[in-house]
Amino acid sequence: MVTGIQGAYGFRLSALNTPLQPCELPVLDPGPDELVVRVAGCGVCHTDVGFAFDGVPTRHSLPLILGHEISGKVVAAGEDASSWVGRSVIVPAVIPCGSCPACRAGRATICRKQFMPGNDGDGGFASHVLVPSRGLCAVPETLPMGLTLEMLSVVADAVTTPYEAIRRSGLGREDVAVIVGVGGVGGFGVQIAAALGAGVVAIDVDQERLELATRHGAALVLDASATDLKGLKAAVRTFSKESARKGIGLKIFEMSGTPAGQTTAFGLLDHGAYLAVVGFTAKPVELRLSNLMAFDATARGNWGCA
Ligand SMILES: [Zn+2]
Ligand SMILES: [Zn+2]
Repeated sequence: MVTGIQGAYGFRLSALNTPLQPCELPVLDPGPDELVVRVAGCGVCHTDVGFAFDGVPTRHSLPLILGHEISGKVVAAGEDASSWVGRSVIVPAVIPCGSCPACRAGRATICRKQFMPGNDGDGGFASHVLVPSRGLCAVPETLPMGLTLEMLSVVADAVTTPYEAIRRSGLGREDVAVIVGVGGVGGFGVQIAAALGAGVVAIDVDQERLELATRHGAALVLDASATDLKGLKAAVRTFSKESARKGIGLKIFEMSGTPAGQTTAFGLLDHGAYLAVVGFTAKPVELRLSNLMAFDATARGNWGCA
């Protein structure tokens, strides 16, 4: 059985606002329940940009190899994970410990002992990555037409994080979903919400993204750079009325991770609304929090996917 992997290399962040530097990795020797994945693809997340350029601190100190949207093939494993060798996998962005009170209560996303590649240890901007075997997602060796293993890397975060937010909201065909920010995460949010049969409104400031959203399931797109909150509200209200769905309250998904997007998402609350906060920004926003009370609305965040 193959154990240590030699000759692996990666691209490391050594300091804020500096280019990633190529580096050689030491021999990757998996512990009993760890394995080594030969990276096929690794998505670039907005969080990586935050780590590299915006001063968002990584939990493991720099230098560190970033990247937490990883797909690849298992090429080495410890004795308790040997059945994974040779399989194609997606590495979850957040790998819970599986045994703490939060994990046992089914709240694995808030596990305090979770491992996030590219944050708690070296990640996927590399030829190989060493990860725990827990929560690994096996991928069929024969993929549907047009899909490749590297393409599936974004399932680790950019697809599953909006999926989790939408699943928690209970979105269905009687609902109107408003997706604020239809980029790397919200673009998938639009597709998931449309696949569930909801009436989907996409809001962004980028015309190209809005066109993509239209092609992939948005029934209404609104350009927030050309319309103020009042205008957006009126357009969403008209859409809701005309779509004649029976769902009570909008299901709003903030996926832009910008103060402007968050302000818009909160500003769209109506009676019984559900607001999911999926995007991240370190910047504060000013809100009238009592709108939650006045509208009997719900606001909720999620970190990754359970
Ligand atoms: Zn991410
Ligand atoms: Zn745990």
